[in-house]
Amino acid sequence: MITEIRILRCDIELIQAELEANKPYEACGVLIGTVNGSTALVEKAQPVTNVKRTRRSFELDPKEHYNAWNEAEKSGKEVVGIYHTHPVSSAVPSLWDRETMENAPSVWLIAGADGMRAYVWENGVRAVKVIEC
Ligand SMILES: [Zn+2]
Repeated sequence: MITEIRILRCDIELIQAELEANKPYEACGVLIGTVNGSTALVEKAQPVTNVKRTRRSFELDPKEHYNAWNEAEKSGKEVVGIYHTHPVSSAVPSLWDRETMENAPSVWLIAGADGMRAYVWENGVRAVKVIEC
């Protein structure tokens, strides 16, 4: 189980900029990198089109999502998680997020109006420590 996620300052800034640019809708994307034991190391945050484009949920464009997986794999990396934004609420999984997390077991990074937090699903929502590096 992943207990911490390391992410670069520039990727945090990119996600923050995506949050602002897509207001009042949610923005989303994938986190590409490697997993080492219980640590997910993000090397790149890559925005993906939110095909739902609502204020309360998101859905990664399937084709872009697939391409990101493919690209990551080609360079020996993986999609270690996904991110999305909560432009007007806190960085806590919504009911919809919880239901979706159960079927998408990777790190969920949420950038909310009150900062950034990460979670994994392990018989329930568990917090993952976010370390800026
Ligand atoms: Zn959400």
